[in-house]
Amino acid sequence: MRALVACALLLLAACTREPEVHEADFLTFGTLVTVQVADAGEQRAQEALRALEQDFRFMHEQWHPWLPGSVNRMNLLCETGEAFVIPPTLLPLIERGRALERASGGLFNPAIGKLVALWGFHSDDPERDAPPDPREIRALLDAHPSMADLRVDGIMLTCANPAFRLDPGGYAKGLGIGQAVERLREHGIEHAMINAGGQAHAIGRHGERPWRVGIRDPFVGGVIGTLDLGGDEGIATSGDYERSYELDGRRVHHIIDPRTGNPTEAGVISASVVHRDPTLADAAATALVVAGPREWMRVARDMGLDTVLLVLHDRRLIATPEMARRLKRDTRGDYPMETVDPAQR
Ligand code: FAD
Ligand code: MG
Repeated sequence: MRALVACALLLLAACTREPEVHEADFLTFGTLVTVQVADAGEQRAQEALRALEQDFRFMHEQWHPWLPGSVNRMNLLCETGEAFVIPPTLLPLIERGRALERASGGLFNPAIGKLVALWGFHSDDPERDAPPDPREIRALLDAHPSMADLRVDGIMLTCANPAFRLDPGGYAKGLGIGQAVERLREHGIEHAMINAGGQAHAIGRHGERPWRVGIRDPFVGGVIGTLDLGGDEGIATSGDYERSYELDGRRVHHIIDPRTGNPTEAGVISASVVHRDPTLADAAATALVVAGPREWMRVARDMGLDTVLLVLHDRRLIATPEMARRLKRDTRGDYPMETVDPAQR
């Protein structure tokens, strides 16, 4: 009998076993990145975490939107209209940026860096004393900056539009997370979670259970709900609350509608996208905030998204059927949720 009880207790312990987790935090991309590695052994985990920190530092330096680095140099050379050798670190930004702009119907457009800067967001502490001159905005809109302005010829690059300025802020975190996942795998890591301010990606499991994430409640703090992530899957949330400042009693935020040149006023406070591809999730979440409650279904269909949550300014939630099925709601902020299938609209 005693042996049986001991056996049952052992089984219970095995069922609820917490994995051995090694964790590292680093400040990069203007946010805190936290990486957790589970069940890999001390040495392997620490080596992988050190490699990741170096990779993120390198990407931060090369891709910084306004400090000296490859992106900055490219933007300066773009102004001249002359051909220059493409730094290899820019290739993923160029290739993915082009495809994502096309897929989103232009609502995600990393070539609008001049508009983002005009609104004061190329700074650690964004602010402006007065709104930008509408004529400056109009001139940039009329010039239609686009990733399609980049002409790649072998190793040479030319920018065909002086209004072009690359701003990787809307998809670099996703690209960085994607490269980090590859690096973890190179180090033989099978179970890990990367969390980078508003975006998370999981591989494998957290011991006996899946990795779990929360979707932030922008109204009262805490979370709207939680979600279990599959073995190679992540979630990106774009929120207009992430970067903003007060101007004449109004809040000016950082997600710019490429059609108007102004911070978007479509009525979405945040959009969350679950996807296997972290770069797509990052860009799509930004595009959905721009699209708003009337147009988001088209963007979801065109970008191949099936797990989406929109939080609207009027405290309503819109979820795709797959999101509604997977989201475990927190009862504190009990906002009404409508389920909408983009494929049916
Ligand atoms: P997302 O919604 O994913 O993206 C919004 C950002 O994308 C905006 O901030 C803007 O940059 C750009 N954007 C706006 N509208 C559009 C649109 N329609 N289409 C495409 N892109 C759009 N911040 C700091 O304060 N200090 C730093 O030192 C700093 N370093 C950084 C270094 C790197 C390499 C990168 C990539 C970012 C850095 N940032 C820094 C943060 C950056 O400025 C953005 O604020 C951040 O990337 C926004 O991420 P998000 O997930 O909140 O927003
Ligand atoms: Mg984004």
